[in-house]
Amino acid sequence: MLRKKCEFIFSLCLLCFLVIWTASADEVLVKVSLDDIREPLEVESYNVRFQGRSFLLVQGDEDGLAEPFPSCVVLDRISPDALYYLVRVGLTSEYILKLEGLGDVILRFGDSALLRIDPSAEPLLIALGLPLAPLPESIKLYPQQGFWMAPELKSKAEAAADAEIIAEVVNSVSTDELRETIYELQENRDLDPPYMAYRSRFCLRVKNTDDPSDDACDNAAEYIYDKFRSYGLDVEYDPFPHEVLTQGNYEMRNVVATLPGKGIDTRRTYVISSHYDSIASKSTNWLIDWKTMPAPGADDNASGTAAVLEAARVLSQYDFEYAIKFITFSGEELGLHGSKHYTKLAAENGEDIAGVLNFDMIAYDPDQPDIDVISNAASEWIADHMLSIQRKHNIGPLTLNKIINPEMVYSDHGPFWHNGWNAILGIDNSDFDSPEFYPFVHTTEDTVDKLDFGMSSRMVQVAVGTLASLADPVGGMPHPDLAVVEDDILLSPANPGRGQPVQMIAHIHNLGKADAMQARAQVWVVEQVSSTPRLVAEETFDVQAGASAQISASLSFSEWGDYEVLIKANPGYEIFETNGQNNVAGKTISIGSDSLAMGKLMLYPNPMHSDKIKISYTLSKDASSRMEIYDSLGILVYKKSFFSGEPGGKFGANNDLEWEGVNLSGERVSAGIYFCYVIATDENGVTKNVSRKFLVIK
Ligand SMILES: [Zn+2]
Repeated sequence: MLRKKCEFIFSLCLLCFLVIWTASADEVLVKVSLDDIREPLEVESYNVRFQGRSFLLVQGDEDGLAEPFPSCVVLDRISPDALYYLVRVGLTSEYILKLEGLGDVILRFGDSALLRIDPSAEPLLIALGLPLAPLPESIKLYPQQGFWMAPELKSKAEAAADAEIIAEVVNSVSTDELRETIYELQENRDLDPPYMAYRSRFCLRVKNTDDPSDDACDNAAEYIYDKFRSYGLDVEYDPFPHEVLTQGNYEMRNVVATLPGKGIDTRRTYVISSHYDSIASKSTNWLIDWKTMPAPGADDNASGTAAVLEAARVLSQYDFEYAIKFITFSGEELGLHGSKHYTKLAAENGEDIAGVLNFDMIAYDPDQPDIDVISNAASEWIADHMLSIQRKHNIGPLTLNKIINPEMVYSDHGPFWHNGWNAILGIDNSDFDSPEFYPFVHTTEDTVDKLDFGMSSRMVQVAVGTLASLADPVGGMPHPDLAVVEDDILLSPANPGRGQPVQMIAHIHNLGKADAMQARAQVWVVEQVSSTPRLVAEETFDVQAGASAQISASLSFSEWGDYEVLIKANPGYEIFETNGQNNVAGKTISIGSDSLAMGKLMLYPNPMHSDKIKISYTLSKDASSRMEIYDSLGILVYKKSFFSGEPGGKFGANNDLEWEGVNLSGERVSAGIYFCYVIATDENGVTKNVSRKFLVIK
């Protein structure tokens, strides 16, 4: 009987497959409204390429995306040869017309456009001199969801006990030193005789290339390297290859200096960064004469680079609990290449980057000194902490405009965001259409005579004060550090039934060296089906240094399924802590049921492009189960049975299942649409099933 039903379903499906097959062979790029996302936690299993203020861009098989995102809009069919760029065009149509001459504008949002171009048009795009960023291959969305991210990091006046050291650091910033460094970077004098000035730091003027030039950019890198070294820091070049389609290969270099942390947690790192490369692509004949044309880049971005160097000079005089990295990137002006390279490696190495301050143009202002601090939602705490440092140390005149805009990705903070780290951008004016926007950007006229060194110096004061505070000076006053660990969340009974009262007890530890008085802790429950967190309890308590406090709550779970119980200590950061990243821990709890039910079948990655696909579903009770995979003709290609109570047939989440893409004879299956079907039968003979379509590509 079941067999007959299956055959019917499959002939029906086959009909649909034939209709859509041609279309779904290629991947599409779709726009998904954030309002239409029903299951935020599931979005992670799709290839998200960008997050805007109100939408996501997701790439995948059209059919596979239509199910989770029914009202998504297809923007483009991905062609492997095309390049996708986010370009800042402002609000007028002037630049849109120019972009349309180069390729296809497939989306406009805010002051930006998404452009698809042929690689041969890339140099012409760069010659427009507009802020641009390649569309990321994929981004990490999870940390951007807000709930588990570090919220505002505000220190109470009395808790800001490092104030003396921080004040000393703030007062050590020298306007003369900054002016001198910006001038030196603008001139970029040859470090060897006859010390002629290159007056350019264009990133293709390097020695390792099959397109030789005068190595001006390498010279600037060596200048920066030497300066870092003179402050006693560990310095290294971080080289990376770059190819320009019509011109050949180049090796660019980031310069990275490290002040190691002196505390117990030596991995945790704060970053201050800038790009040191420059461009004058808006000036006439740039495309022909870039090997000799000046690109002084005083505001863009000798000003940010001087900030990084000044921060290195000042902060290297002190010891901090946590590491501080001083990074100057190359290749930014051609599409953030240095920071993309750096963050990719850092992500692969699992680096613990706790916060990033990136500066790009901080010395131009025609009227009142003001600088925009651009943040995404998850990074807002950095901007808030900068404002509190500025207030506390009376740094002015300078207005810092905090702007939350995940679409403003046109500098090196963008790749940090997209790898899931918190970062801000300091920029003298981010509003492209404002009269305050620097008119000399990307021209041969971007020189020191246009700049306000007083303003940039106050920005650097805020930056070093913020870094010193976050990295926590050694020898300053100790701080508390509240922490929660999963093992300390105790539930009784451990395996409750539906509707049964559960007593939860958890411990909040103070790992720091100071007492935490009047600390708050919260208990949240996340129902995994809806994923909307629910606050169920809150307590206030004192916990001495090295001691623990207890928080308890009565819980009950009305439906079967998986829940997560989350404990959050110091949720609003009323208490300044040295580590805001160990304040949340959770425990998953599965509620069983007398009757058999199955939770949604999930497969990922879908499409299956590697050598295995992961399969998961939940069971409301133990049940013997079998999984079957059919091809688009309804032919069984794979099957597997699971005993009741064992993985695949156990109560709760069954998520360690996978299929390696081979059929019953052990041969690799061909590309195409497949159908996964799981049937569970409990001890009373009750049967339930779940199914899902997926795609195999090569
Ligand atoms: Zn720049």
